[in-house]
Amino acid sequence: MILLDPNKHDRHYPDERSREVMLKTISFFERRGKRKLKEDDHAAVWYGEFLDFVRAERIFATLCTPSGYGAADARWDTWRICEFAEILGFYGLQYWYTWQVSVLGLGPIWMSDNEALKRKTARLLEEGAIFAFGLSEKAHGADLYSTEMALDAAPGGGFVANGRKYYIGNGNRAALVSTFGKIAGTGEYCFFAAESQHANYRCVQNVVHSQNFVSEYELRDYPVREEDLLSRGDEAWNAALNTVNIGKFNLGWASIGICTHALYEAIHHAAHRKLYGMHVTDFPHAKALFTDAYARLVAMKLVALRAADYMRSANAEDRRYLLYNPVVKMKVTTQGEDVINHLWDVIAAKGFEKDTYFEMAARDIRGLPKLEGTVHVNIALIVKFMANYFFQPAELPAIPRRDDACNDDFLFHQGATRGLGRIRFHDFAPVFARFDLPNVRVFREQIDALKALLAHATPDAAQTRDIDFLLAVGELFTLVVYAQLLLENAEIYELDRGLVDQIFDVLVRDFSRFAVQLHGKPSTSAAQADHCLQMIRRPAADAARSERIWLEHVHALRDAYAMNP
Ligand SMILES: Cc1cc2nc3c(=O)[nH]c(=O)nc-3n(C[C@H](O)[C@H](O)[C@H](O)COP(=O)(O)OP(=O)(O)OC[C@H]3O[C@@H](n4cnc5c(N)ncnc54)[C@H](O)[C@@H]3O)c2cc1C
Repeated sequence: MILLDPNKHDRHYPDERSREVMLKTISFFERRGKRKLKEDDHAAVWYGEFLDFVRAERIFATLCTPSGYGAADARWDTWRICEFAEILGFYGLQYWYTWQVSVLGLGPIWMSDNEALKRKTARLLEEGAIFAFGLSEKAHGADLYSTEMALDAAPGGGFVANGRKYYIGNGNRAALVSTFGKIAGTGEYCFFAAESQHANYRCVQNVVHSQNFVSEYELRDYPVREEDLLSRGDEAWNAALNTVNIGKFNLGWASIGICTHALYEAIHHAAHRKLYGMHVTDFPHAKALFTDAYARLVAMKLVALRAADYMRSANAEDRRYLLYNPVVKMKVTTQGEDVINHLWDVIAAKGFEKDTYFEMAARDIRGLPKLEGTVHVNIALIVKFMANYFFQPAELPAIPRRDDACNDDFLFHQGATRGLGRIRFHDFAPVFARFDLPNVRVFREQIDALKALLAHATPDAAQTRDIDFLLAVGELFTLVVYAQLLLENAEIYELDRGLVDQIFDVLVRDFSRFAVQLHGKPSTSAAQADHCLQMIRRPAADAARSERIWLEHVHALRDAYAMNP
């Protein structure tokens, strides 16, 4: 089964320690149980017990220390990081968040040339420390150009930092807070490591009411010694963006974990609830909503897994991950919202109950598309790749499934963030051609219609500056990339072909919906609107296929998993 099932953990790992990390994490949450999970959530208590467990079992040390800096079992391995993020999301986004912002805080450190600080960080990880990423500011959010955190030269050498940061997770306890600032006078960017327990570091407040501590902090004449500096100038800028490249991928995995737990809970409830003498799952619309939710969730997972293969295989010549990564961030997380919406439409009042996991899922799923770059920011990035993707395919190595025990070195040596428009991609068409299925055929016709729009009614200069228009085009393009990654992994994982067709039933409808949106944009020309109409297609309905998928894949989950009370 492709979905995480804590009762049947049989994922392949090349080493025992990786499996141990996952099993111990699952066992930590199951032993504490659902009641305690929900109590802590409602009381918004700091997750100290979880962090005690992480310290005792050296979990972050194993997963978040690149090879060569820590113990023999430590490496930065995206294969196992994916599942760890999924498990944390499965039990609660708050647990994922304290790990996630540690990942972000570690980014500029592992990317830096400051070897002494890297050794210190490895030591701190072994001691169970958490980390933080101080980028956003209250007035300008994540607009790095406007950063106000200022470093002035100190009389005896080094600098003193003054300024505030806002929305910074773990800012109350982080051993090191990777803080982005500007050197006064020159405007040069820099990253430096601040200690949250230092006398000149003031944790002002938690800006949210949650188990998470999303801090506002202030540095007042904070001494930044040469040995605290992580990077300067272009390197600091690159470290900021390249760290987000690594981190934002994990948001897709949090969505997958949340949706999986919510699906188990929802289908169990619906399948055992009787109304008017029938089970809720016998209503045709309930079946359709559950089947769509399941199809979307399987697609989310296959796409995110496939994108991880490209991340792990990236190098200076092969940067395809720079497209696939924002696709996971933007698309998997918004698909997560769709999954929860479908499930909630079925389980209705149950989804509000205080004792359910679903209550947290319904709240948390909405954060993921918005954080670490909104949907808009990511689509604006994605469209930069569109021309090369459609019209300049290149011969590039075929990437296998990457579940090997290797350290993902390149992620911390990604280099300059420029030149996105020059990145080339392999031809997407052959994998579509290998799936001779009714809905894949319809989807290919939709792609052809999109390509025809781009080739024959090419967006003009004004349209390429109009983000509102570009976002609508970007949704269609993203769907093609998403479908390509999905099919590549459907092959690797030998997914039931009927399920692939069922997933494409959803994708065909989504394509039509986005085509209608582009059709309605004020700046869409008449010729472009005609092309949009060509993209609107009906999926190839097949009652027997849908019924089989429902029975064998979806309804079959009704008693598969319930969290230990
Ligand atoms: C719970 C939580 C935890 C967080 N944790 C951290 C953390 O640990 N560290 C940290 O540094 N930050 C953190 N953040 C900040 C988070 O990364 C930002 O909230 C996020 O990047 C979005 O910025 P914003 O909310 O300020 O939106 P704004 O920047 O105010 O954006 C406003 C609107 O403009 C659009 N927009 C902005 N720029 C562009 C663009 N270039 N192209 C197209 N549209 C654009 C946006 O899509 C949005 O619709 C956290 C935020 C929250 C709520």
